Amino acid sequence: MSYLRFKALEKVSGRQRVEIDLPKAKISEYFGTLVFSLDTMKKYVSSGAVKRVISSIDTGEKIDAITADAVAAGMKAWAIEKGAIHYTHWFQPLTDSTAEKHDSFFDLEEGRAIEKFKGSALVQQEPDASSFPNGGIRSTFEARGYTAWDPSSPAFIMGQTLCIPTIFVSYTSESLDYKAPLLKSLTLIDQAATAVCDYFDKDITKVTATLGPEQEYFLVDEALYNARPDLVMAGRTVFGHAPARGQQLEDHYFGSIPPRVHDFMMEFEAEALKLGIPVRTRHNEVAPGQFEVAPTFEECNLSCDHNLLLRDIMNKVAERHHLHVLFHEKPFSGINGSGKHNNWSLMTNLGKNLLSPSSKPKENLVFLTFLVNTVKAVHDYADLLRASIASAGNDYRLGANEAPPAIISVFIGKQLTDVLEELEKNGNIRIDKGDNMYMKLGITKIPELLLDNTDRNRTSPFAFTGNKFEFRAVGSEANSASPMTVLNTIVADTLWQFKKEVDKQIDKGEKKEVAIVNVLRDYVIATKKIRFEGNGYSEEWVKEAAKRGLQNVKTTPHALDFWISPKAKKLFLNHEIFSERELEARYEIMQENYVKKVQIDGRVIGDLAMNHIIPTAVSYQNKLIENAKGLKDIGLDKEAKATIEIIKEISKHIATITQDVELMTEERKKANAIENASDRAKAYGEKVKPYFDTIRYAVDKLELIVDDAMWPLPKYRELLFLK
Ligand code: ADP
Ligand code: MG
Repeated sequence: MSYLRFKALEKVSGRQRVEIDLPKAKISEYFGTLVFSLDTMKKYVSSGAVKRVISSIDTGEKIDAITADAVAAGMKAWAIEKGAIHYTHWFQPLTDSTAEKHDSFFDLEEGRAIEKFKGSALVQQEPDASSFPNGGIRSTFEARGYTAWDPSSPAFIMGQTLCIPTIFVSYTSESLDYKAPLLKSLTLIDQAATAVCDYFDKDITKVTATLGPEQEYFLVDEALYNARPDLVMAGRTVFGHAPARGQQLEDHYFGSIPPRVHDFMMEFEAEALKLGIPVRTRHNEVAPGQFEVAPTFEECNLSCDHNLLLRDIMNKVAERHHLHVLFHEKPFSGINGSGKHNNWSLMTNLGKNLLSPSSKPKENLVFLTFLVNTVKAVHDYADLLRASIASAGNDYRLGANEAPPAIISVFIGKQLTDVLEELEKNGNIRIDKGDNMYMKLGITKIPELLLDNTDRNRTSPFAFTGNKFEFRAVGSEANSASPMTVLNTIVADTLWQFKKEVDKQIDKGEKKEVAIVNVLRDYVIATKKIRFEGNGYSEEWVKEAAKRGLQNVKTTPHALDFWISPKAKKLFLNHEIFSERELEARYEIMQENYVKKVQIDGRVIGDLAMNHIIPTAVSYQNKLIENAKGLKDIGLDKEAKATIEIIKEISKHIATITQDVELMTEERKKANAIENASDRAKAYGEKVKPYFDTIRYAVDKLELIVDDAMWPLPKYRELLFLK
């Protein structure tokens, strides 16, 4: 009866480990061998052209046609040597994944077969892209967009294809992707941070935002995955009763990794390393079946690209191991969800991490400046940060008692809290001759090594962790470029404001250091309410946050509204990160994405409930009816009662399911008729989605009642415990 489930289970029990072919050499010998890095470029392209590429990376200036031809020729020669046959522009439309359109190097010229790749093909392409989300920017008569080379992220070879990272814009130059705004925000934070660094060290001429994303994911066996239409269609299980043993024993975390999984990890890591992705740590996560991979941090744009590429590689390698990777934020109800902690910091051209405390008081003023400005940015733009991580998937995770709440707050730890409190107390300070200025300013006390401090808070959505901030509320499936664009922009905006205020005091004759501390103190006082050191998962925090006036926006359609608030528009337009049209379009696309996701969930729920669950429940009920009749036939009327109770119980659940599926479908129809995308999303969130829970409750109850041999869907205990 439940043919697919048992066939899948049979397959799982017969699984053998797959042969893996790992590089014999040391990592340092094969790391980045499939990347056209600047070093590789130097071997294939004239030094003049390489110089022009480097200068274009630094300044963002356009690359001229001659240079482009030279680079293209070198790139082609290298790629063909490595066995590439095709090339593609690799870009990030406003969907969950990357896009590519492959062209062959092969061409015919006067009847002769040649391998062709010109500078023009490197620099710009026109993918037939009318089906990518565009929020109405590209009406059909101008349904063309183009991709343009991003020389700051090196080309690489996947399989037999040379992939060239690009931005994706409309013909009227509006951005239609995640990369273009990210690049703008990186230039912005560079300029603002460098300007502020000028107070401290004139040799600082460039500041780079760094990112290290810790990627969480689940693995399930391929056969079981294929037997769960909800996993296949929606990436998450819409039904499934909690297993007798979940994560309560906490024995999965840092436990030994199952051999099959270990093989998979070794293989995808080797592939990633060849592509220059510096993967470093791997371990089990809290939930059964959940794992994490984290790279060493890199420049933010490159790191975002690498995260997308890594997920692509993981998907491909998993297939060879008969596994399937789930990147959804909440594949299993009642089990921890998956996040992607975005570790973020700022690094100078002198190699100094601006968020790293130091033993030298003078350097600590730099540290404090960037720490406090980041806290101020989060305080002023908490709503926008919330918006930047909003997605249908993340809604299932945020605030689900194991993930950061939807309330944005900052954790900095006890030691730094003490430092800020000290700073606050010190009032306006006069520095007299012979004074130890830094002592008087109260900034000699910052402990040098905060990294190993024990008061790490795992429940904060935005935590300082020794030498970087960790934006923990980001969803596992998200493109980090979106939260990073917002973070870079708001910190840059705050730094510019900070500089203005400090300069004003200096102009009035205040000593530079004193002016800096004065403004920092103002910020510390003004932003107190955003700092929270307690348990972010607790009920008390929700109440406390409300008292403090912090927002707690629980659902995506409402959180997204902040993208187009007057404050956000002013911010993005001022700094030219988005135009008004781009913002409006993006907003619409995000609301539509939400609708599509919830719509798919709803359809899958309706389909599974009516076509899989109810027929199964009815079959089982019929068996029970036979049983009750039989018992009565042989005179066991009293004994038949127990069976009849179960029959009634089943009927009750069937009635709930049938009724709620119908009501849900009605609500979906009503929501679909709403013209405005934002209102439609809200209707989906508020009218359609509540039925997911009531239907699920009844289905999960049936799972406990119905004969296990008849149940059609692989159960949680079967999905979650990989061997
Ligand atoms: P954990 O947070 O689990 O204790 P680590 O401290 O090793 O682990 O760091 C986690 C992630 O933070 C890694 O991806 C690491 O590369 C990244 N990270 C460390 N330093 C920085 C930095 N300066 N900027 C950005 N990311 C960083
Ligand atoms: Mg971490």
